[in-house]
Amino acid sequence: MSKVKFEKIKRPEKIGLPFMLDFYPLQDEKNTRISQFFKNLKQGHLTTTKCKKCRKLLWPPRIVCPECLSENLEWVDLGVEGELYAFTEIRLGAPLGFVEDVPFCVGIVKIGSLLISTRIDDAKYEELKIGDKVRLKVVELPDRRVFYRFYKTKEQ
Ligand SMILES: [Zn+2]
Repeated sequence: MSKVKFEKIKRPEKIGLPFMLDFYPLQDEKNTRISQFFKNLKQGHLTTTKCKKCRKLLWPPRIVCPECLSENLEWVDLGVEGELYAFTEIRLGAPLGFVEDVPFCVGIVKIGSLLISTRIDDAKYEELKIGDKVRLKVVELPDRRVFYRFYKTKEQ
């Protein structure tokens, strides 16, 4: 079971988002210097940058190492499996565009030395526990922008 799950998602047509509150970032080369992250994600790979000078693994992906200020970074694949480090359920106060999804779970997933904030899909709060194995899922908006989420795997 190595294939990554992809899911088409929608967001409400009318949320009148102020641009800065659009949860999904602009992902092309014209708008971000980490466009490679989104290109990789579209292929089912969760990646980040690692500093080639001081070897620090960075999350979120960066264009400059915050440790040594080097711009000499490389892309590394984080794999598709992680462990649930912390989680909670959103019942109120969901961000714009997510109100219809309430209740849903969010959490922190541990992959190696990294702690990644993410939505946790396909499980109710009561079904989750710290240490659960979770797996990468790529969600895609109608305009082709993608983002990562995780979901609890059946085999624990
Ligand atoms: Zn560095």
